[in-house]
Amino acid sequence: MTQSQTPSSLDAVLKRYEPVIGIEVHCQLKTASKMFCGCSTSYADAAPNTHCCPVCLGLPGALPTINKRAVEHVLATGAAIHAETPPATRWDRKNYFYPDLPKGYQISQYDLPLAAHGRLSFQTSEGEVTIGITRAHLEEDTAKLVHSTNDAGRRVSLIDFNRSGAPLMEIVTDPDVRSAEQARRYAEELQALLRAIGASDADMERGQMRVEANVSLRPRGTEPFGTRVEVKNMNSFRSVERAIAYEIERQAAALDAGETLTQDTRGWNEDRGTTYVMRSKEDSHDYRYFPEPDLPPLRVDAAWLATIGAALPELPAARRARYEADLGLSGYDAAVIVGDGRATELFEGARAAAPDADPKTLANWVTGAYLGILKTKPAAAARVDAGQLADLVRRVGAGELSGTNAKEVFAAHAADGASVASIVDRRGFRQISDTSTLGPVIDEVIAANPKAVDDYRAGKPVLGFFVGQVMKATRGQANAALVQAAVKERLDGGSGS
Ligand SMILES: [Zn+2]
Repeated sequence: MTQSQTPSSLDAVLKRYEPVIGIEVHCQLKTASKMFCGCSTSYADAAPNTHCCPVCLGLPGALPTINKRAVEHVLATGAAIHAETPPATRWDRKNYFYPDLPKGYQISQYDLPLAAHGRLSFQTSEGEVTIGITRAHLEEDTAKLVHSTNDAGRRVSLIDFNRSGAPLMEIVTDPDVRSAEQARRYAEELQALLRAIGASDADMERGQMRVEANVSLRPRGTEPFGTRVEVKNMNSFRSVERAIAYEIERQAAALDAGETLTQDTRGWNEDRGTTYVMRSKEDSHDYRYFPEPDLPPLRVDAAWLATIGAALPELPAARRARYEADLGLSGYDAAVIVGDGRATELFEGARAAAPDADPKTLANWVTGAYLGILKTKPAAAARVDAGQLADLVRRVGAGELSGTNAKEVFAAHAADGASVASIVDRRGFRQISDTSTLGPVIDEVIAANPKAVDDYRAGKPVLGFFVGQVMKATRGQANAALVQAAVKERLDGGSGS
């Protein structure tokens, strides 16, 4: 699904120009404590400035210590993208002044990243694409600036240091990306991978994964890169695709008009659907990188690396292939389930609880009902239990619960976490499959609709109407297949009794 604004003009542009795009992703790593101090990273709903200490406040004399778990997450990412890790890496100071950076420098990695020369492959509407990954390195996050108005009506900027020093991984691609769709798919695939290996929750809307793109154009058939523009502030996968498509068109129009592009940093305005200049090249920093004197070089021994590589779980590409080949899921269902860690967990959990259930039926529940709830009511989705879903699917399969009622039970389970068994009992949902109960209802429905009976005998397709009436009379609890057979038998029999 392409989401560019004016596909026709974009198509015309792409005939003449080739986009050259590189992607930078920053993601928050899943660790209990921050990168260089013991402060907790569970600050998402905390009051400002309640998760900080002398180290992450940058107070003089405070010394950093390395978070081993964060290093392992980057090494695991490196292994998953087939990157190389040098035997020794080190930390560097990236110097710049900004109020959200209390030390006046960020501890990062400059020329010896923990992972380099990797790659990531994924499917697009035009087939499989492989993007080279230049590097993945570890650094610390900045504090958060909050702009507001104080009681006296003055505009103020406040600083919340809870995020200061949280571990961040930066992943940079080679300039291999050639379309807005590839950029979106790369970001989606990277998210799936980071979630699969447990390195990051990588939720874009929550700022756990921030995507930036360097976009330039060159006339088709030429080698030299054009002037590149950095695009920021894309807060969803959809924004990534829209912003880059917009930027490609904007640059092409400027080049066609004979203008010279400037090397700007531009922000994406989601509401207006345009990019705007945030900074021009004149503002660019010289970061004066130099080795961090407070931390030793980091040696990564081969045994540690091998242990991390061996512990990698099944990666998204392999899992998709298995779902299609072994479980018979469609490519679409496999991609949707693997694309969301929570969906994968629910699907795998339900499969484990009900090994005999049809995988396609389980997949339908996960991609339909579950992801529907996840989009609109994430809190309710979190209550959905794999064992309960397995029970629900088993009851439908055994003819104890109708499909219609099963949907209602699923929604009720998500609403308060109640068990499927208790909801079925409470609502009196029991699929009626015995003919002695259904018989009189069917007879009544037939007797009440003589015109439909005539229609049926005249060859009109009204069987569904009768089934619908019986379902209505039994509040959706009748076994629909059984009712259909019974109605047909009576009407074909001719008596109508
Ligand atoms: Zn701290």
